[in-house]
Parts: sequence; structure tokens; C-alpha cells
Amino acid sequence: IGGLPPLACAPAPALSFEFFPPKTDALDAQLWTCIRRLEPLAPRFVSVTYGAGGTTQARTHATVARIVKETALTPAAHLTCVGASKGEVDDVARAYWDAGVRHVVALRGDPPAGSDRYEPHPEGYAYAADLVAGLRRIAPFEVSVAAYPEVHPTALSADHDLDNLKRKIDAGATRAITQYFFDSDTFLRFLDRALSAGITVPIVPGIMPVSNFTQMRKFSAMCGAGVPDWMAALFEGLEDDVETRRMVAAVVAAEQVRLLQANGVDEFHFYTLNRPDLVYAIAHILGARPART
Ligand code: FAD
Repeated sequence: IGGLPPLACAPAPALSFEFFPPKTDALDAQLWTCIRRLEPLAPRFVSVTYGAGGTTQARTHATVARIVKETALTPAAHLTCVGASKGEVDDVARAYWDAGVRHVVALRGDPPAGSDRYEPHPEGYAYAADLVAGLRRIAPFEVSVAAYPEVHPTALSADHDLDNLKRKIDAGATRAITQYFFDSDTFLRFLDRALSAGITVPIVPGIMPVSNFTQMRKFSAMCGAGVPDWMAALFEGLEDDVETRRMVAAVVAAEQVRLLQANGVDEFHFYTLNRPDLVYAIAHILGARPART
């Protein structure tokens, strides 16, 4: 694994940005400010997450449909298996296709709040691999799936988890997007293991710029992303100092992506949390520039 190269203008990598659907008018305005700010960077696609339950799902659909209608961006709609029959999930997928959406991020989803064990719906797609196969039967969607450099928290083992990723690719997915991680070596080792397992589709690192360290640490404990001690030390004492925290966050994320880029990674997926500034700055450091119109 090579070290950090000198700061210089590297060839621009392919980018994608993830948004979540807004719950209120104020959050809707924030999302659209974010989309408009990042749009000139001409990402390969932008994805919109999908929550459990009806209203959240309607908001995902509305957001994706508006992206199709009002922007030059290519949307990818997230879709999950949890809590729905195959028929219901298929209807949502058909509605996406009819709205002009050609790319789906196919996921299992997490158990609803309050239940700690995942139970497949009796008439549903049990796992993401089943959903990928179902989607491919409905229409020729481009399908991306999730991957876990630090292993999915409930996987039986790292090998089982890699076999599962392979099943998702064999079912028709053409890209994996990873859970966020902070230790670049972990990701690069995962790439090697995936390649040895015969996975040859792009595995795109999911990058989470950390604007709120305390919150991120709580969330990481749930989703199985390791938070290195050096990060805790870097953010120590900055709980009430938003400005310094943001500058530190920019340095951490910039170093992470530059190290990955120096090791041959040329595609990045950013978890924007609907906030554009840090992501814009890091994409700029990576070499991304607004497309000329
Ligand atoms: P799967 O690939 O189905 O795997 C889930 C677990 O089951 C793994 O431990 C796997 O090893 C195991 N497994 C798979 N098949 C079998 C089998 N046949 N028998 C036994 N075990 C099996 N969640 C949302 O609700 N909405 C979103 O929009 C969303 N977007 C995400 C985007 C990305 C990039 C990532 C990384 C995650 C996202 N998530 C989202 C979270 C995701 O839903 C959870 O991580 C979920 O717990 C697993 O989803 P999966 O698609 O990876 O599941």
C-alpha cells in the first residue's frame, strides 16, 4: 500500500452522491440546495435512500421522480426487501421504471426499530440477492448492491459475507457500493479478497465525511463500521466547536480519498447526508471540476 502522493491535480475520478428523502419542507429545501450545488460536478449517478414504511417510500419515489424531471442527473433509487411481499416490491420497481429510473440499489434493509432479528416477509424477497434476481426479471435495470469491507454485523462469517456478495453479482448486479469505513487498508484488503473470490465488478468505496463525530460513532456501532482511536483523538474536545470540527473532518476525508486514489481507486460514492460543502471540497481535491456548459 503506497503512501500519500504530493497534492497535485489528479485525473478526476468518477463520483456518485447519496441523498436521503426529506421529511419536511425545510429539509426538502436543504436537499435541493445540496443537489444543485453538486450537480455541476457531473456525477455518474446520484442515489436516494429508501426507508421502512409507506410515507418514507413515497418520499423516495417523489425525490427520484423530480431528479429525473428537473435535473441532468442520473438517479439510482434504493429499494429494500424488508416488510413487503414480492408483489409489493415489484410494483415499486415497475413504478420506478415507468418514471424513467433505470438504476436501482438493491438492499435487504434492516429489521424495524424494536426488533433486533431480521425475519423475511413470508411472501417477500428474503435477501438482497433474491431482490436482484427479481429486478432483473422485471426490467433491464442497472443494479448496484451493498458490500461490507468490515463484514456485515450479522453475517455468519467474513467468508459467508463475501459469498453473499458474489451471489448478488451472479444474480445480475454490476456494481457494489461499500458501507463507509475509515481505515483504508481494510478496504484495499477487501478488494483483494473480493478479486480472489472471483468478484470483478467495480467495488466503489462509500465515503462518509464526518461532520458530527459523536453521532457518527453511535451510528457506526450499529452498522459495524470501525472507528479508529486516532479519529477519536483528532475530534477530542471539539464537541462544541463546529467550525474546527468541519476543518478536521475535511482533512480526514481528503486524506482517506487521496490514499485510496493513490492506490488505484478511481470511483467514489459519497454519503452526503444532504450537506454539500464538505463533499464538494473533497471532490475538488480529488480533481473534480464543474462541467462547462
Ligand atoms: P444482504 O446482502 O441480503 O445481506 C444481509 C445479511 O444476510 C448479511 O449478513 C449476509 O451475509 C446475510 N445473508 C445473505 N443471504 C443469506 C442467506 N441466504 N442465508 C443466511 N444469511 C444470508 N438500508 C435501508 O433501509 N435503506 C437504504 O436505502 C439503504 N441503503 C444502503 C446503501 C448502502 C451502500 C449500504 C452499504 C447499506 C444500505 N442500507 C440501507 C443498509 C442495509 O439495508 C443493511 O446493511 C442491511 O442490514 C443489509 O442489507 P444488504 O442489502 O447488504 O443485505
